[in-house]
Amino acid sequence: VQHVGESTLQELLDHSCTSGSGSGLPQLVQRTVAKQVCLVECIGKGRYGEVWRGRYHDEDVAVKIFSSRDEPSWSRETEIYNMCLLRHENILGYYGSDMTSRHSCTQLWLITHYHPYGSLYDFLQKTTLDYEQMLSLVHSAAAGLSHLHTEIIGNRGKPAIAHRDMKTKNILVKTNMTCCIGDLGLAVIHRQQENVLDLGHNQKVGTKRYMAPELLAETLNPDFFDSFKCVDVYAFGLVVWEVARRSGEYAEEYKPPFYECVSSDPSFEDMKKVVVIDQTRPVIPNRWSSDLLMSQMSKLMKECWAQNPKARLPILRVKKTLFQLLNSWQLQRKEDRNLKIENLEKSV
Ligand code: ADP
Ligand code: MG
Ligand code: MG
Repeated sequence: VQHVGESTLQELLDHSCTSGSGSGLPQLVQRTVAKQVCLVECIGKGRYGEVWRGRYHDEDVAVKIFSSRDEPSWSRETEIYNMCLLRHENILGYYGSDMTSRHSCTQLWLITHYHPYGSLYDFLQKTTLDYEQMLSLVHSAAAGLSHLHTEIIGNRGKPAIAHRDMKTKNILVKTNMTCCIGDLGLAVIHRQQENVLDLGHNQKVGTKRYMAPELLAETLNPDFFDSFKCVDVYAFGLVVWEVARRSGEYAEEYKPPFYECVSSDPSFEDMKKVVVIDQTRPVIPNRWSSDLLMSQMSKLMKECWAQNPKARLPILRVKKTLFQLLNSWQLQRKEDRNLKIENLEKSV
């Protein structure tokens, strides 16, 4: 704790690698660091509370400030980061949490890496993508979700975690055009060997627009952890659709899933009608069917958002398929470039 002020946060994290099993700084350091963070600008505001860009010495951090109403989400997110070793390039990096009392108000903070591009949702509003960027964003997001879903046995291991609120607003875009997954306030944990399913105590539910048919039909069996993984994969399919629309030479305008069927704040019943009764899914634009890569993407999303949860792909399969698509796209681009150079040389 003595040298907290002189080290970068990454150095502090690296030092704490061997102590404890959590993802963040050692408990005592978390508080010391929080005290030295100053809030600079508000970058997100909602029903939940606020997210700020803050400074710790000369480093940017993101500070999520929870309203006291949403203490269960703060507790859960803090608990998960502190209990599990979640350091992964495609999971939002965690420094620590803090609870303080200011003017007799409880202040709940969660301090993480700061990503200037913001959420994937924000990013897609402003930007269109080429196919390589599209594949890099969705492949890395799938890699993050796959890391969450996978249980790793051993003392540097982690339990399986289902997110339960997958959507473009909960995925952040890094400056190298890859994603990381954030907002673990609703996550559930499974340790297969000990046969422990930890659902937490958060009474909140996921975002209605992204709810899988079995949630809307209320047929999901919460005793099986796999049910929650299938729910994540359904929502991931919708995320891939949102990204794909913004990709290529003839990108569509940004739209959220089911924009043509429901209003901006759909009710549970609205979503149930669309997703369960009518079994509607996002429309595949015509241009995708005449494009080899985009028809492969369409096939993948459909295999994610299947009506029957058991028919959906495991996220590991989704990740591997996207990796292959990314690799062959990059290879093809390279061959095209070489061919151009060859032709150029011939003509000289
Ligand atoms: P909530 O649980 O209240 O939904 P989130 O963790 O999803 O909170 O954060 C809300 C929004 O704040 C995100 O959609 C994103 O726009 C922004 N945000 C959150 N974390 C970061 C971060 N680390 N860097 C940049 N922007 C962030
Ligand atoms: Mg969120
Ligand atoms: Mg949340």
